[in-house]
Amino acid sequence: NQHEDAIEPSQWERFGVDTTTPHSARVYDYWLGGKTNFPPDRAMAEAIEAAVPSIKQMAKANRAFQGRAVRHLAREHGIRQFLDLGTGIPTSPNTHEIAESVSPGTRVVYVDNDPIVLAHARALMVSTPATRTTYIHADLRKPEELLSDPALTATLDLTRPVGLLMIAVLMLIADEDDPWGRVAALRDALPAGSCIALTTPTQDFDPEAVGKVTEAARAGGMTLVPRTYDDVLRFFDGWDLIEPGVSPVLAWRPDGEPPADPRAAYYWGGVAIKR
Ligand code: SAH
Repeated sequence: NQHEDAIEPSQWERFGVDTTTPHSARVYDYWLGGKTNFPPDRAMAEAIEAAVPSIKQMAKANRAFQGRAVRHLAREHGIRQFLDLGTGIPTSPNTHEIAESVSPGTRVVYVDNDPIVLAHARALMVSTPATRTTYIHADLRKPEELLSDPALTATLDLTRPVGLLMIAVLMLIADEDDPWGRVAALRDALPAGSCIALTTPTQDFDPEAVGKVTEAARAGGMTLVPRTYDDVLRFFDGWDLIEPGVSPVLAWRPDGEPPADPRAAYYWGGVAIKR
């Protein structure tokens, strides 16, 4: 069970990866049981775990929402192309694996702005022909640039419905950077029939514990903004929410029995469609 810090630090520096400060993608990777994380990432992950002991289950609940949402969009809404923004360090099943299990030939564009994700991009795509899945290094705060990236437009047909995923990424965009405006630009660029699935951590279920999380993040120099129910609703502005609307991720179309305590994972999740 080797960690990536067994690799020479200089190897990562070549990719522009700063291993000396904690980074969201790697902190989250640690909670999911991955090995792409370094001592500062693990220190922050453990500090947050001290405030929220069930954080690892919450990360898994978030990831499970993603799986159910992608399957639902592919099965019930005929989505055959996905744009996965803030895709993170590859974690199986990845979006293309889930989508292809419903419909082989589904196209997926992965987007992240972290060099370590870029370094892993090939691993993201090994199971699929290059024409169907691609990775672009871009920033969700620059939606126009992102959507006009030649690799994106070569893979996705933006005149046909797209499933836009923003799973556990919007909390990394400060209010000053106007995440609502950026998401609105993305919504406007997509045709009718397109869907958005997103999750974001919230303070609404346990303000005290989540307050400690944001404090630990701030102490480590990481932006992490939990958002309220109303904040989350605004990301979907003008689109029709699919039942059950914005809900705790655990309560969004669970497989099998609904969870005893849906608020046990501090994430809002929702899916909406453009009519
Ligand atoms: N969506 C995945 C990973 C979440 S971790 C999941 O839920 O399992 C959040 C990811 O968003 C990280 O990989 C981080 O590098 C990326 N990210 C953060 N800010 C971003 C931005 N402005 N543009 C693109 N990606 C961003």
